[in-house]
Amino acid sequence: MKHWNEECAVVGVYGVENASWLAYYSLFAMQHRGQEASGMSVFDGEAIQTHKAQGLVCEVFNQSTLSNLKGNIAIGHNRYATAGKNSSLDAQPLYARCSLGEISVVHNGNLTNAGILRERLTQEGSIFQSFLDTEVILHLIAKSKKESFEECIKEALKSIRGAYCLIFVLRDKMIVARDPYGLRPLSLGKIKSEKGEGYIVASESCAFDLLGAEYVRDVNAGEMLVFHNDKITSTQLFSPKDFKCIFEYIYFARPDSQVFGKNVYSIRKEMGRELARECKIESDIVVPVPDSGVPSALGYALESGIPFELGIIRNHYVGRTFIESEQSIRELKVKLKLNPIKEVIEGKRVIVLDDSVVRGTTSRQIVKILKNAGAKEVHLLISSPPTISPCFYGVDTPSKQELICATHTLDEVRKYVRADSLHFLSLEGLAKSVGSNEGYCQACFDGKYIENCFKSEDEEE
Ligand code: SF4
Repeated sequence: MKHWNEECAVVGVYGVENASWLAYYSLFAMQHRGQEASGMSVFDGEAIQTHKAQGLVCEVFNQSTLSNLKGNIAIGHNRYATAGKNSSLDAQPLYARCSLGEISVVHNGNLTNAGILRERLTQEGSIFQSFLDTEVILHLIAKSKKESFEECIKEALKSIRGAYCLIFVLRDKMIVARDPYGLRPLSLGKIKSEKGEGYIVASESCAFDLLGAEYVRDVNAGEMLVFHNDKITSTQLFSPKDFKCIFEYIYFARPDSQVFGKNVYSIRKEMGRELARECKIESDIVVPVPDSGVPSALGYALESGIPFELGIIRNHYVGRTFIESEQSIRELKVKLKLNPIKEVIEGKRVIVLDDSVVRGTTSRQIVKILKNAGAKEVHLLISSPPTISPCFYGVDTPSKQELICATHTLDEVRKYVRADSLHFLSLEGLAKSVGSNEGYCQACFDGKYIENCFKSEDEEE
């Protein structure tokens, strides 16, 4: 694992003809957030139709599947397996038929009390069909004695803890809910067509750009939106406690997205500038590790005056490769993806910029390929602080013992990756780049998790 791995992407399209096509293009734009599986539910006027399978968006959907998903409301999901197993049973949307009728849901995030709730529900007679934490929500809704789906959902949300961006389709209604901490991003946009106005809700605003939708605002932390009869009703279900995932700015989100109201590219560039202010190194060129290191390397080069060079080229067509156990094959995997340009690197003192260090193996490989290409010196700069704690909010991370920065000193890490020097952006530098660290989760850098996030409602009482 080179990175903290992406979470998932969700999208909901309401009040637009051929909503499935718009949801499809949105999922396509957000493919970077999950490549294991994809799926969609559409209300066709009579029933909710669902299609989902393992694979990339372009593998799961085709002209014929999309033509069968007709309707004005569609919800969609790209899955990266953070909870549950990597099987088509665990692909989303999750559909159920209960006493109030049909319901289908997509979820981005991880529930921290799903295990406790699942055990309780199982003892009470619930039968689970998947390993997904999201299924717990459907069971809580089905068991609620309230008289409308809306009220059942509200009741279910009171029992769950952790990170969630949820989009439900209930026949002619779409309901959106975001957790009180606003951990994962969720934006609201407006779609104008010849036939009127519709709405889109998506994990990242890059989905809006593709459709020509207008960004309206973020869905608030703790807010519920109900789309019905061509109107939106907003209810602030929980008081917002803002604890937004700062890692969205470092790696997850696409640079062309607005996340938590800010442009990702500008923040990444500022991280590079801040790193240049914190860490001055004599060198000949600044080289990014593509693609995520590009904006910060550009920022570093602009601030330091050292020339920016694309000294490493990424092969974009490698796709998913199997996990190899042999070290030599693993090294080949890095080489398959990243190749240095010898003519740029040879004889130079190189600053190489990457976004983060997880186990250190990829950094070591990058330093090695640069040295093999003839670099005189290699200085590894990281545009985020050292990652020292795992994430429990919907991001796939290794255990603390596997995080090299949690178990080794900075100099030990430098020796392991064989760089001439190694520097990380400070926590203060990260806060300056983002504007402030107030209202952000940075638990993977400082180990400070949300108080009460692991407790169920009963425990809190
Ligand atoms: S620990 Fe917090 S900042 Fe780190 S990836 Fe998870 S949610 Fe994001």
